[in-house]
Amino acid sequence: MALGDGLSLLSVGHEWCEDLPVRHVEVQAVPLDRLDPFLTGERADRLRTAAVRVREALDGRVVWNVNATSHGGGVAEMLQYLLAYGRGAGVDVRWLVLDGDHRFFEITKRLHNALHGAIGDGGPLGDVEQADYRRVLDANLAQLSRSVRPDDVVLLHDPQAAGLVSGLRALGTHVVWRCHIGIDIGSDRSELGWAFLRRHLEQAEGFVFSRAQYVPPWLPSGRVRLILPSIDPNSVKNRDLDPYQVARILRRVGLLAGGDQDHELTFARRDGSVGSVRRHTDLIRDGAPPAPEARLVVQVSRWDRLKDMAGVLSAFSQNLLHTSADVHLMLAGPEVSGVTDDPEGADVLASCRMAWRSLSPAMQERVHLVCVPMDDADENAIIINALQRHATVVAQKSLGEGFGLTVTEAMWKARPVLASAVGGINDQIVDGRDGRLLQDPRDLDGFVRLLNQLLADEPFATGLGVAARARVADQFLSDRHLIQYSELFTQLVNS
Ligand code: UDP
Repeated sequence: MALGDGLSLLSVGHEWCEDLPVRHVEVQAVPLDRLDPFLTGERADRLRTAAVRVREALDGRVVWNVNATSHGGGVAEMLQYLLAYGRGAGVDVRWLVLDGDHRFFEITKRLHNALHGAIGDGGPLGDVEQADYRRVLDANLAQLSRSVRPDDVVLLHDPQAAGLVSGLRALGTHVVWRCHIGIDIGSDRSELGWAFLRRHLEQAEGFVFSRAQYVPPWLPSGRVRLILPSIDPNSVKNRDLDPYQVARILRRVGLLAGGDQDHELTFARRDGSVGSVRRHTDLIRDGAPPAPEARLVVQVSRWDRLKDMAGVLSAFSQNLLHTSADVHLMLAGPEVSGVTDDPEGADVLASCRMAWRSLSPAMQERVHLVCVPMDDADENAIIINALQRHATVVAQKSLGEGFGLTVTEAMWKARPVLASAVGGINDQIVDGRDGRLLQDPRDLDGFVRLLNQLLADEPFATGLGVAARARVADQFLSDRHLIQYSELFTQLVNS
């Protein structure tokens, strides 16, 4: 059986440049009219008008995106479809992935944590770190400078790429830095992170943040734009799947018990070719899959401390013990070797596994730690899609969150979402209307109370899901994001 035939749109291939670390990710064009079924006529027209305007303004210039990974995490997720539609609109938009050694990603993860106000590994961000950070980015810059032409536009994403600003400006390119992370109220740790980055950022012509609260006060406000992330309704991650397809996928990959795992299962990939959902037997770490009729509370996240997978596990296992035994918890994240720019993943997963081992046998049967393979991005996406759709409740109990695409993805699937009232999650959920917000992300009892309410009151939970879908359809689809980018680039090259 093929799943979601005809909805497949993008194709991302990888091609290593021969001599240096920078990697070019190939993205196939997707026509803008693929978004038409999700838009009113007026919205579709606005998108097409913006496309004409930016194409004329760019006048053949290339728009380069530079980030640190081609898969795993929200930035890579968005680049895949934004570039595809951009190319479909006739803009020459390209994607380069910089590379670095373990030390580089240790430093950038420290910066990532710092901008979230988190201590992370607690290590320094001083002159030695500056030197190591620059060394890697200088090597990347040398490679970039062979491809990027003066007057092209370069969009650098997150702290990993910030150190490229001045080198690229010296080449005569237009440079914008987009920061996908931040914290609502600054702290000593976030100040440390910004102090590290500040000298690199001064020459950027533009800055993009997800929330006004994330913008450091010393950035010139006239150069700052706010753009919220979005999802693509056509992607493998978000396309419609009916409950039968969902159950077949989850059984095939061993995330639900029962059924015929051996039956071949195909689906339409981003590029339209046929993909296969492989038979997996080891996605669940240390335990057996839940029964199909079990009600699942699901959190999908990278294994990052700020996502607090361990806190969800702890809340569920300590406090839900006496409630309905048909409720299970599934914590799903990427296979830890698959996300290269995230050195903490293995440690976080290991501590969750240790916590799981300390549970009673009865609770172990109800808590499932899942690692989804990353070697096939489309297969990963369809598994996550099915899991989010199968969930009775989707949780996102993050301690800090730049935006939280997993929240938007679950809302689009009309799931009741229970998430922490942190960062960009506040821009997505109005508490009690499109989901539930946990005011204090460390309040385990509060988390359980809200969870029990959603599990006990099905009509209420269903109503939240319906409202959530409508909110995403209205505010968080790709057309709004593409129009905002077109305005940014038009202004940049005209100024
Ligand atoms: N994701 C995934 N597979 C996983 C875990 C996460 O594809 O095993 C995706 C998830 O669906 C979402 C993105 O990674 O699209 C995470 O984005 P988010 O903004 O929630 O968090 P980030 O990882 O960027 O901090």
